[in-house]
Amino acid sequence: MQPKTSESETAQSNSNVKSIKPKAVALTIAGSDPSGGAGLQADLKSFQQLGVYGTSVITLLTVQNTCGVTAVEILSPELIVAQLDAVIDDIPPRALKTGALGSAAVVAAVSQRLRNATCPIVVDPVLVSKHGHSLAADEVVEAYRRDLLPLAYMVTPNRFEAERLTGCKIVDMESAGEAIHQLHHLGTRYPLIKLGAIDGDSVHLLGLDDENICLSVPRLPEGNTHGAGCILSATITASLALGETDVKAAVLFGIHRVYEALHCHSKLGQGIHPAEIRALVRP
Ligand code: PLP
Repeated sequence: MQPKTSESETAQSNSNVKSIKPKAVALTIAGSDPSGGAGLQADLKSFQQLGVYGTSVITLLTVQNTCGVTAVEILSPELIVAQLDAVIDDIPPRALKTGALGSAAVVAAVSQRLRNATCPIVVDPVLVSKHGHSLAADEVVEAYRRDLLPLAYMVTPNRFEAERLTGCKIVDMESAGEAIHQLHHLGTRYPLIKLGAIDGDSVHLLGLDDENICLSVPRLPEGNTHGAGCILSATITASLALGETDVKAAVLFGIHRVYEALHCHSKLGQGIHPAEIRALVRP
């Protein structure tokens, strides 16, 4: 007879198999990147590398490789919510993240379905590329502000996305602090703004309950950053799914994992190479 597995126990089918935490499940609601470096592919790989069982709801399909995106097709809100309905109660996630949602209607429909979710929601708002190019219309930004940010445990915008979500022009730490304040005001518990390069470091500002803290790692040369934002939010989500309750520890872990993924440069593809998720072996 198999021994009973409780939440605090780990499952092992035999001694050669690594211990598994049965409840460590994370869901990503995101777009597909066929090149495998970003989007739901990056999320699922990041979950898997940490021993977290990943489920996924596809919001949109991109046609892209490391050289660029040539087409995007957004699925209907009904089909997206049907995927969520199918999976969320059957294999309940302990944490979930959203990536590219594509349209205001999708943001509204997903938010409506997540209103009673009991697990933490990490929102990676894919609105503006890290180089400053807009990826979403103003009505999408408004839907995030109105519908999704009030449900979010964490939101992980880059500097440009934080500017669009809050209306604050971020030029220094003080204005970044004001953007954090605005994101708190919109209902997100822990905003994390990826400020980018400052004095040779890659800098992040995390808004905790009663203070903002600056977290940095040395900046590495550009060229293999495709998917870095997805890996960061997916790794934080995976940590939460593994039961991490210290938000600063989850964020620091994510930042260091991204650093490792950027440091290990395997130059896949002819364009902006994917950050190397395979570097992220289980700790
Ligand atoms: N989601 C999808 C489907 C994408 O194609 C991209 C970028 O190409 C992203 C998210 C964001 O990727 P990154 O982590 O590089 O910001």
